[in-house]
Amino acid sequence: MGNEYRALIDGKLVAAASGEQMEVVNPANGEVVGRAPRCGPAEIDKAVAAARRAAPAWAALSIPARGKLLVKLAAAIAAHREEWARLETRQYGGPLWKTTSFDLPFASELLEYYAGVARGMTGMTLPVGPTAASMTVREPLGVVGLITPWNFPLVTVLAKLAPALITGNACVVKPPSCAPLTALKLGELTIEVGLPPGVVNIVTGPGASAGEALVKHPGVDKIAFTGDSATGKRIMTLAGGTVKPVAMELGGKNALIVMDDADLDATVEGAVWSSFFNSGQNCASVGRFLVQESVYEEFAAKFVAAAKKITVGDPLDMATMMGPLAYRGHRDNVERYIAMAKKSGAKLLLGGERPTAPPLDKGFYVTPTIFGDCDNRMEFMREEIFGPVVGLIRFKTADEAVALANDTRYGLCASVWTRDLRNGLVMAGQIKVGTVWLNQHLSIVFEAPWGGCKESGFGKENSTLALEEYTMIKNVWIDLAGSPCTPWQGKV
Ligand code: NDP
Repeated sequence: MGNEYRALIDGKLVAAASGEQMEVVNPANGEVVGRAPRCGPAEIDKAVAAARRAAPAWAALSIPARGKLLVKLAAAIAAHREEWARLETRQYGGPLWKTTSFDLPFASELLEYYAGVARGMTGMTLPVGPTAASMTVREPLGVVGLITPWNFPLVTVLAKLAPALITGNACVVKPPSCAPLTALKLGELTIEVGLPPGVVNIVTGPGASAGEALVKHPGVDKIAFTGDSATGKRIMTLAGGTVKPVAMELGGKNALIVMDDADLDATVEGAVWSSFFNSGQNCASVGRFLVQESVYEEFAAKFVAAAKKITVGDPLDMATMMGPLAYRGHRDNVERYIAMAKKSGAKLLLGGERPTAPPLDKGFYVTPTIFGDCDNRMEFMREEIFGPVVGLIRFKTADEAVALANDTRYGLCASVWTRDLRNGLVMAGQIKVGTVWLNQHLSIVFEAPWGGCKESGFGKENSTLALEEYTMIKNVWIDLAGSPCTPWQGKV
């Protein structure tokens, strides 16, 4: 039947006022993992009111004082690592090796990183002397709304929550409806570690009701969102009603470029990882492989051979490399793209199937899928699939590769694989995206900023730049002359 979970509002664990719940289904077997409150505008109102009450006292604490609570929260998460990793795996299907060795440690470390790095925040002193001094200070925004996706359910919450809290904001989090359970467990922990009531509120409920109520709420000073570009556009429109700033981490149709001088074995290793890690459900995953003609056949053969070795199976088995897709509707959507690719004339080199042998037949699995002989104009090469499906395109020159990489409405990330670092750097400068890796793909760390351009969004997560997303700059001016020195001096 699955456990019942509670939302966190004003330091209390609560059900939805209506009593309604949402079932969270394990995509590996279709069983119910738990139930989350189906909240709506009424609960969002309460959460925003609680956050507004809590914000001034939280902002008045020093950064070290806030940091100590964040570090305590990090330690409490670490203490629940095994249990939460299993819950994360069961609610969205990411393999246990990933949730244990990546998601849970990353979640704790995000809090530790921001608790420390925020102490280095600085402002400017401005050259307005000698009769005055002027400086900038960074202030919290007040109350921020954080709307997060299901592909890294806990990490995407903390990537926003940690910088928002350390800079003195109170937060209302709206997690994804299909995988909200670790976010709700986080809510319970914030009470245990002594975060003041109202500083963190976690409200589950459908995007169309709870999510939109949060975006439109006049008591919310900013929305930080990660998810689909279409949802992002809707949120931007709604946020316009209260002239609310937004940060948008949206989708991508990212290119991996294989130059003919690349170390092909290393490239294949990077290709398999960046295509099929987390079943391809990463905004940074590769959708388009651009391969120089002279190495196309060799690369394709090696890539297919390597992808065949990926073990697809029960995500709770530590030996499983790739689990199911996150929910039934998403699996169906990925299959729609596979059918579209087949129809468009692309050549199926691997996969494209549902595993049929029990127990995988009960889950929402799709095997690693590679299409060859693709064209950048094919519809499935233009839309973000967000699953284990990639296509290979041939090119002749570096200029052609850059043009193809840029021929997309997205601008999240890309990679160039070459031994010629000078040429790689030139190409990196020509590709319009937020991140370019040379001989690497999918390496996302705290220290480096993350975020795209074009329809992949704007604003930065990770690094010290995320602190800027949750603060406003105020200019403070001090007279040193003993009078304001206006042009009317002596006349009035
Ligand atoms: P969504 O954009 O629909 O969902 C992301 C979050 O936004 C969820 O919490 C969702 O709530 C909420 N939401 C949905 N609609 C609204 C709204 N109108 N107003 C406010 N909040 C809203 O993404 P999905 O989870 O449905 O995934 C669909 C696609 O999004 C994927 O196939 C992929 O292309 C892309 N995606 C990209 C990610 C990235 O990191 N760039 C991450 C996840 C998805 P609820 O769950 O209740 O609908």
